[in-house]
Amino acid sequence: MKCNYTDKDLMLYYYEELDPSMTERLESHLKKCSQCTDSLNKLKATLDTIEIKDPEIGESFWTNYRAVVHKKIRERKSQNKTVLLRPRFIQSITAALLMLVIVFGGVRLYENRRQEIFIIENYELMMNIEMFEDYEMLQYLEEFEAV
Ligand SMILES: [Zn+2]
Repeated sequence: MKCNYTDKDLMLYYYEELDPSMTERLESHLKKCSQCTDSLNKLKATLDTIEIKDPEIGESFWTNYRAVVHKKIRERKSQNKTVLLRPRFIQSITAALLMLVIVFGGVRLYENRRQEIFIIENYELMMNIEMFEDYEMLQYLEEFEAV
């Protein structure tokens, strides 16, 4: 059977964009033409897949992204805790951190952005400075007691 219908016509039909007389003619043609019916079914399958999959890809991507970020935060937190539990590291970390704060503070007029990144990256550690200092104090007290 000779067909005057193209994939574009079938696509417009699928999206109900054909004018009513064209729709009527195509529908009656589809009843007789297995080739066009086949093409339309394939087109439907493809277009349905696209419509359904798009939001799913987006959602699963963001779910995975969040999961990865949360996992990384958890990993970093557990790493930080491991460090915190070793008193010998605390003084050197405190010293290095204070040095960085002083250095970054000194150049902050010229490197506001870098300091901002530094603060964001080290926020948790900086919040623990007090804890470091408590450890330091305990160590000093122990040294005094030894003398
Ligand atoms: Zn046909």
